[in-house]
Amino acid sequence: MSKATKQFQTEVTQLLDLVIHSLYSNRDIFLRELISNASDAIDKARFEAQSNETILEGNSDWKVKLIPDKTAGTLTIRDNGIGMTMAEVEENIGTIAKSGTKSFVQAMKAAASADQPELIGQFGVGFYASFMVADKVTLTTRRAGAPDHGTRWESAGDGSYTIEDCTKESRGTEIVLHLKEEFKEYLDEWKIRSIVKKYSDFIQYPVCMDITRTETPKGVDGEEIEGAGTIEKTEEQTLNSMKAIWARSKSEVTEEEYKEFYKHVSHDFEDPFKTIHFAAEGTSEFKALLYLPARKPFDLFMAERKRGVQLYVRRVFITEKCEALLPDYLRFVRGVVDSADLPLNVSREILQEDVQLKRIQKSLVGKVLSTLTEIKEKEYDQYLTFWKEFGPVLKEGLHFDYANKEKLQELLLFQSTATEAGSYVSLKEYVERMPEAQKEIYYITGEDREALEQSPHLEAFRAKGFEVLFLTDPVDEWVVQALHAYQEKSLKAVDRGDVDLDSEEEKKEKEKKQEEAKKEFGSLLEFIKNRLESKVKEVRFSNRLTDSACCLVADEYGMNANMERIMKAMNQ
Ligand code: ADP
Ligand code: MG
Repeated sequence: MSKATKQFQTEVTQLLDLVIHSLYSNRDIFLRELISNASDAIDKARFEAQSNETILEGNSDWKVKLIPDKTAGTLTIRDNGIGMTMAEVEENIGTIAKSGTKSFVQAMKAAASADQPELIGQFGVGFYASFMVADKVTLTTRRAGAPDHGTRWESAGDGSYTIEDCTKESRGTEIVLHLKEEFKEYLDEWKIRSIVKKYSDFIQYPVCMDITRTETPKGVDGEEIEGAGTIEKTEEQTLNSMKAIWARSKSEVTEEEYKEFYKHVSHDFEDPFKTIHFAAEGTSEFKALLYLPARKPFDLFMAERKRGVQLYVRRVFITEKCEALLPDYLRFVRGVVDSADLPLNVSREILQEDVQLKRIQKSLVGKVLSTLTEIKEKEYDQYLTFWKEFGPVLKEGLHFDYANKEKLQELLLFQSTATEAGSYVSLKEYVERMPEAQKEIYYITGEDREALEQSPHLEAFRAKGFEVLFLTDPVDEWVVQALHAYQEKSLKAVDRGDVDLDSEEEKKEKEKKQEEAKKEFGSLLEFIKNRLESKVKEVRFSNRLTDSACCLVADEYGMNANMERIMKAMNQ
């Protein structure tokens, strides 16, 4: 194919515009992103080579090479990873290969217009970070196993790019950044060293650079030889320590290292909320370094979102997002699991079935839940922040993970008629403060707290001093069904069926009143019933109201108004 000029997908142009103009707080990270991509590409080549060694073409000297060129004003990042075909370049670099592209850009724009540039930080812009420091980027790449098909891609980040065939001897990708005048500092050896040390030290492969030193030749006696002048010596140095951070013991890893590694595995730009690092021995032996993010990703509830943690087997990368390692309701957890027991040539199909993985999953879930329990007990405010981000996802666990019901129910927090807006109550606290006369746990479901507070259904409960939980997440309907009861107190919707709040005496009293009312207003009831015949099942006198004249009530086993709302939203 001859050289073609193409337009970026609209969202990419918008994204680039944001990257160039708003994402200025820490430009150094462009190098982290490119090294991270190079490392990912080597991971992929290594994995593929296990089933097809020919793609290596005899070269398995894995390496990321950095080449600053002061004369040309360019910084090159070269890897011998998997490379890309032309189609892959178009797909990965010309579009945003993320799920929900549009919403991603919208969310990012919103963050920018909220005048909070640090919020943009939560969106990993990856490769596009190059344009923070370069006014032109040239990418040359060749897919492993496709020796005759190189591709050259080039862009000034201005809405279009060119793409063409080219020849490339070696497999892998080379990215040349033509640095903007004001960012020539990125050609400086010490600058590069310090960035690699800070952000990419744990990268599993050597990140190398040629270092040239000027030396004065010395004689055998160690004395300088007079008049010999100086000589230049160039040698390749590895800039990172390459220590697999999860394989080290906790005491050997600094907070900073944990954070940087998190950013590498999660592609998140923010610090994690919590780091969980542990090793398991016994029936299954593995090391795990898990992270709970601080903020929910914008696509947490999008079905096409890929989830899971990285899987390694004895320090060899197997897969980026291993779904089998964690259940869906913990899909926000990021990190690495390194198993000592799995076979190296484990296929993706086997991953779904494997009993070893199931054991690991069980142990990971236990660890995550016990960590959350601990945070809730010891650092409640922090837990609350976490809950506000991830509570709705965690709740799904009650429905899907019956085995952990006991633990999960203790992690639940709700707003209620007895909490101030923004404060929460746990089920345990709720039960502890139940008045003696109260036998059940009451809740009401709906869209938000403000609306629920107005509900006439609450009147009788307020009058009695009974607390009512506000359930405002769509998932809550499933939560109450799954929970059913807590400490043998059943959960009861205040707007379903007939609620029984009164003692025997009070009941008799009210029955008497109802009888009288029927005599007096029976014809009115008949009248209303006839008028609303097609709309409601029944019209009756009720004890549940104190101030309002009437309210709508669902059958005990029918759908309530909120459930109907959810079903409608789902087009059911
Ligand atoms: P992410 O790394 O989060 O997927 P990036 O913008 O950093 O997003 O990269 C986009 C995609 O481009 C990668 O997923 C990968 O498929 C491809 N890519 C980027 N750099 C390389 C590279 N050095 N070698 C091979 N593929 C690459
Ligand atoms: Mg990347």
